[in-house]
Amino acid sequence: MFYGYEKFPQRIQETPMRQSMFIFFVIVIVGLAAICGIGLRNNHNSALKPEIKKAKMYAPPANMKEREQIAKDWLDAAQDVATTLEAKEAVNWVQEHQAPAYPVDNGGAMLVDDPKKDTIGVVVLMDEDKILCDYWRQMIEQKGVGLRYISGDRMMQFRPTKCTAKMKGLFALHECVHALDDAMHPEVAKNATKETSADIQVAGELHAYMVQKENTTKVFGVQYQKLLDRKVEELYGMYQRDGKKVGGSAYMSVQPTPALDDVCGKPASDMERGLRDSHFWLFINMSLIDRHMDDTEDEKRTAKLSYIENEYRQAGIIE
Ligand SMILES: [Zn+2]
Repeated sequence: MFYGYEKFPQRIQETPMRQSMFIFFVIVIVGLAAICGIGLRNNHNSALKPEIKKAKMYAPPANMKEREQIAKDWLDAAQDVATTLEAKEAVNWVQEHQAPAYPVDNGGAMLVDDPKKDTIGVVVLMDEDKILCDYWRQMIEQKGVGLRYISGDRMMQFRPTKCTAKMKGLFALHECVHALDDAMHPEVAKNATKETSADIQVAGELHAYMVQKENTTKVFGVQYQKLLDRKVEELYGMYQRDGKKVGGSAYMSVQPTPALDDVCGKPASDMERGLRDSHFWLFINMSLIDRHMDDTEDEKRTAKLSYIENEYRQAGIIE
């Protein structure tokens, strides 16, 4: 018996692309879109309101076993790199509450007989799913996006994108943090309004990035930390030269960072490179605020939220 998602096909976010950007930058920017959550809920495209059909009418795709293996690889990779208590809790929670799911036209279906309220449907999207409906087509065509968690819908999406094992685990771990946050506080996504959804999304992102950053530095060790520290100080030097205050509105955005190849290994795909570099620059800016912003912890948190929001707005993830 299959369990249908009731609402998510209506929640469609279109990420505007700036055609003039060179391709790598597009990948980096869109890379941030992989890290999306509650913001999707209220940004649906009113032109697309597909009829909701009962998912139990649909049989799983012929390659369901292959899809299940791909999802397992992502989540096992997360288990392998989760070293902090918080990360372990999040990954374990997802492992215990997940159920295989698959896209159908205008919706999705879970491959379990008795999904609970907190069951997470794990969908692996293949190129052939584009024809199902505009919702899935748009999800698949967002270049550089390898994974997502959609708050409120309890749905994790993976793509069969190539990615080296450690990075794969760290990206998936980030989504697991969203999933556990969503499960612990379901009222947050449920009560989100158009006015509050951006703040909620950004706060969720800050939490997920903090956990991801801690685990990333543990996985790649002192070399990663050294490169991060060097970039933080270089950036701080630029602030000082320009007479700018750390925590103000002007920040340096994501930069391609090939030096990470020596620390993390050569990425297996453009998606991995884009995500890896965009996360690294988020971590640099978070550390810059921690170390060089002369203010209270509350003010530092506000500055980090504002940084993430700014990045997400520029990338079109938050409108
Ligand atoms: Zn995220």
